[in-house]
Amino acid sequence: MKETIVTIPINDLFAPKDGCPLCRMERMLEQQYCEFVTGDAMMEPSVRVETNKKGFCHRHFSRMTQVGQKLPNALILESHLIEILDKHLPKKPGKPDKKALEGLGEMLSSCYVCDRVDRDMHHLMATVFAEWAKDGAFRKTFQEQPYICLNHYRLMMTAASGKGGVPSKRLPEFHADALALTKTGIKCVIVQLKMENCAGGRRGRLHRLWRCSSFQNYHQRRGRRLFWQSLARSQKRKRGRRLTITIDVSNFSQGHVVIW
Ligand SMILES: [Zn+2]
Ligand SMILES: [Zn+2]
Repeated sequence: MKETIVTIPINDLFAPKDGCPLCRMERMLEQQYCEFVTGDAMMEPSVRVETNKKGFCHRHFSRMTQVGQKLPNALILESHLIEILDKHLPKKPGKPDKKALEGLGEMLSSCYVCDRVDRDMHHLMATVFAEWAKDGAFRKTFQEQPYICLNHYRLMMTAASGKGGVPSKRLPEFHADALALTKTGIKCVIVQLKMENCAGGRRGRLHRLWRCSSFQNYHQRRGRRLFWQSLARSQKRKRGRRLTITIDVSNFSQGHVVIW
């Protein structure tokens, strides 16, 4: 796929084929905005107006304290708290004001970083739809993803069915591609849970097999995709054939299938 400014992040984000690509997108944007808000944008009045108004969710404020310095975080929080005193809490005690409480509720459920990430996710998803619809190399890359998580399946299908989404003629086709990835993800979790619960002796034997260097080298040579391809194939196999699956539980996206 020829790279343009818009497609560069899409190519980069879908290239690793490690976990859900949309989770990767979201993490990248969260990191960028947490750095931006505590860095370059700290003294930017238009950004401060927004951060004062919306505040931050717990997750993103924690992230900001990790990536940003103490001073910018303290200044951002101070001006946000001053705005809460001015706008959301009554000057004098008395009967609680319903409207003011509604406004406070809205503010508490809003987050500057969440809003920016949501907006950019929709923009990036529009690029994914456009690149997928071209039927070029990107479609193959999309189909080769290990999985799409349930949350992003829902988000992507909602966006794909809406304005600026996938053309309605192509929507069933796009849905089929995404659904296959989400189902694979869920089936892998089920297999992983079964393995977690299987008898210790058998698991121990598999673990020893996994530890065997020649086995590992063999599978490393063939690549991680083997696991996902084999799992997809295994769904079609007749029952009765002995199938053993080992999964490295430390990383969901790494695993191998052994068929004896
Ligand atoms: Zn995801
Ligand atoms: Zn947030």
